[in-house]
Amino acid sequence: MCPAKRKTGRKAKAAGADRLEEYRRKRDFSRTREPAGGSAASDRGRLRFVIQKHAASSLHYDLRLELDGVMRSWAVPKGPSLDPAVKRLAMQVEDHPIEYNSFEGTIPKGEYGGGTVMLWDRGTFTPDEPRGEESHEDTVRRGLRAGKLSFTFHGERLRGSFALVRTDGGEKPKWLLIKHRDADADPGSDITAEVVTSVESGRTMEEIAAGADRVWRSNRGGRSGGEERATPQEDTAEIAPMRPTPARTLPEGRPWTYEPWHGGERVLAYVTPDRTRLVAAGPATRTRSRAIAEQLSALARRVGRAFVLDGELVADDDDAVFHVGDLLLDGDRALLHETYATRRVALEKLFARRRVKGVRVQATDAAGAALMRSAERRGWAGVIARREDGTYEPGRRSDAVVRVAVH
Ligand code: MN
Repeated sequence: MCPAKRKTGRKAKAAGADRLEEYRRKRDFSRTREPAGGSAASDRGRLRFVIQKHAASSLHYDLRLELDGVMRSWAVPKGPSLDPAVKRLAMQVEDHPIEYNSFEGTIPKGEYGGGTVMLWDRGTFTPDEPRGEESHEDTVRRGLRAGKLSFTFHGERLRGSFALVRTDGGEKPKWLLIKHRDADADPGSDITAEVVTSVESGRTMEEIAAGADRVWRSNRGGRSGGEERATPQEDTAEIAPMRPTPARTLPEGRPWTYEPWHGGERVLAYVTPDRTRLVAAGPATRTRSRAIAEQLSALARRVGRAFVLDGELVADDDDAVFHVGDLLLDGDRALLHETYATRRVALEKLFARRRVKGVRVQATDAAGAALMRSAERRGWAGVIARREDGTYEPGRRSDAVVRVAVH
């Protein structure tokens, strides 16, 4: 028994090393900073995944699932979708080393896969259909062999259950990546359009390509005289808006506070003394609202710093109103990891006694039910409830923000 067991062990190890042969053959490690592989030990019991956004000859998303000491890999041209009605083609490609999971940067032009790589999401995954006592790895191996794997992402951006279904075998097997219907499904959404920054560094593809090492550049370089300022607008990374959880009833009591949901367009405002960009959530579009943009830049000049706001833009005929509910960055202060209560204090301070035409700081209310009655009376879309202790989770549907429509 013993020699046989040892043999199996050796065989498994050899198979793990062999699995990277194609990966290594395609790369010249004297030219690329990608890892050669072979040293990262598996974190027992927890299978890792990453998704890398890769602008090579064509843009795609590389889905990698850990199994048997390597990352099984698929190139997904359009990336994952949270819409269960959407089936995304996933072409199986060569296994990658586990160290590849932390790779973000540029692969030199002319090399295999030359272009920019962004760490778009990461975390662990668990198979959905374990049988009896089998390990997660056994279940995943069985699913992949059978051509159907159901698994749940525990990522920073992707969550919930997905299926990989093989549709075509052969040299380069084709699969479909499909979201299952569950609480994390989001029909009609487009997460690849909403989430455009690195999960690791917060950088956009352009910033990674440029080798930029910072996420947010405020107008810090501006001299006190004020005439000469850097022009940071174009290289300011975009933050994916945190998404509310839709619900039928409002959560009640502490630590919740409530505000109107006007039903307008969700907009993030990137404000500097020189210029303001109003960026609508979803498929990245810039909203036109010059007057509001100019008013916000005027405020930035008065307070002497750049900032980023999250709110709703409501356009009635010619008059547009930007209802601001959150402050994400304030000068050099990043507020994303602060609680909503802290962000709210900073927001009120920023606007304190300063009238900005076309911009209104959302009124908050401690009584949700009463606000819902106001919503019905005044024709708002509904009410938004926020946990005072909730942090800002970019690109995520958060339990700390709940949205209830007027019935
Ligand atoms: Mn790739």
